[in-house]
Order: sequence, then structure tokens, then C-alpha cells
Amino acid sequence: MTDHVRPAPLRTEENDGFWTAAAEGRLAVQRCDACGRWQHPPRAMCPDCHSVALSFADVAGTGVVYSWSLLHHPQHPSFEYPVVAVLVTLDEGPRVLSNLVGVDPADVRIGLPVEVTSAPTAEGDVPVFAIREGRA
Ligand code: ZN
Repeated sequence: MTDHVRPAPLRTEENDGFWTAAAEGRLAVQRCDACGRWQHPPRAMCPDCHSVALSFADVAGTGVVYSWSLLHHPQHPSFEYPVVAVLVTLDEGPRVLSNLVGVDPADVRIGLPVEVTSAPTAEGDVPVFAIREGRA
């Protein structure tokens, strides 16, 4: 167990809605107001219809592992290694890159049902994923 907390996320004008929701315990994904396309990570423009009318909508926070990787290097004192990096396909469709926590790396597999939880940082919580209760 590490005594360090994760570094705070780097906020930008484009991703502020994501991190603000995360700090309030919600998982929100950017969505195009014009065509409804989900996109993550947040960007300034919809790649499909080129609208700049974008907002953040809450999602359920459940999905499945689309892909994953074990990170061994470079190491930072705030993380326990290996870090399980996962690309999660949310039930609503968009994919988010995150960490899978509280799991034996040997148990990670594509299609694993997961749900969002949170991990503390120096400036509030960030969303991470855990195996969905009762679905492993
Ligand atoms: Zn659009």
C-alpha cells in the first residue's frame, strides 16, 4: 500500500466538465448537442458534424473491459504496480481509458463487467473502475 495520493488531474477548458463531475462523484462523458455523438476524451469539436455545441451528460458508470494492459514502468510513488490500465466500453457506447483497481492482474480479461468507483488525488477524487459486484 502506498502512502502517496495520486497526482491531481490536469484540467483544461475542454476537460473541465469531466473533472468537475468526477469531483462531485459523477461520471460524465462529453456529448454533441447537435448529433448526439458521445466522445471521450473531451474535445473542442464534434468530429462527425463539426458542431462546437458540446455538453457533458452523466452515464451509468457500468461497462465492460474492451482492452487492457499491465503497466510496470515508469513507476511513480503514488501507484501500486503493476497498474491495470483498462479501456472500458461504457453501456452507453463511449470508451474511456482508466485504471482497474482492487483486482488481481491475473483475473483481468476482455469482456469483464466493471463499474466506476473513485480514487483520491491531491485535489479530489478521480474515476477508476472495479469489477462489477457479483459479475466477475
Ligand atoms: Zn455532432
